[in-house]
Amino acid sequence: MLRITDLCAGYGQKQVLREVSLDVPRGAVVAILGANGAGKSTLLKSIVGLVRATSGSITLDQKPLANESPDRALRSGIALVAEQRELFKSMSVADNLMLGGFLRRGTAECLEDFEKLLDVFPRLRERSKQPARTLSGGEQQMLAIARALMARPSYLLLDEPSLGLAPRVVEEIFAIVRRVSAEGVAIVIVEQNVSLALDVAQNGYVMEVGAITVSGASELLRTMPAVQQAYL
Ligand code: ATP
Repeated sequence: MLRITDLCAGYGQKQVLREVSLDVPRGAVVAILGANGAGKSTLLKSIVGLVRATSGSITLDQKPLANESPDRALRSGIALVAEQRELFKSMSVADNLMLGGFLRRGTAECLEDFEKLLDVFPRLRERSKQPARTLSGGEQQMLAIARALMARPSYLLLDEPSLGLAPRVVEEIFAIVRRVSAEGVAIVIVEQNVSLALDVAQNGYVMEVGAITVSGASELLRTMPAVQQAYL
């Protein structure tokens, strides 16, 4: 289980996260909701060590993770797909994908996963030789997710995967999220599309100004007037 307890974190003097606590059991899907600037991205970044925690703890199966480097988080099985997607734009789709497996030893196994992921993402197979910058927004998001999956994570952190995408493409991305979840990968998803996020997640947490204000089962959150008014 990924457990965050009373986490405070921020940028220099600026404190963003205020005593955030949340649990993500293995295999679960958890949605993080909240307005722009609430601190959702900061939370995901602090889980992988891109933002420093000033107090509180992050543990994976009771082992401390806070303030470890992003590669250590990845070695522990936690992969972040950042909002900006962070692709190597001039490199090919195939090379971007293979780079996702850079921490793994067995090349044969990596190649097997590479082929498997190209089956899951047929559009990436069609475009495997193209530079990543030539992909549409939705295809770039698919590549970012596929590249993260090349590390065989047990936790996938998705920051606004549907941002800027057409509704049909958003549906495709969520179908992929469901498929990844069905394979047993736990997912923490930050999403503006609250309705879709609550459909796919078992539990949700609402963040306001760096703190968790409401949390609970997705069906429960959906019925709360405060959540409906603000986000649905
Ligand atoms: P959004 O959906 O707009 O990304 P968010 O909930 O993910 O919102 P964050 O991106 O985590 O929010 O931002 C939380 C706060 O931290 C904001 O006030 C933002 O301006 C600030 N912030 C984010 N990144 C930095 C940074 N690199 N340096 C300083 N402040 C930052």
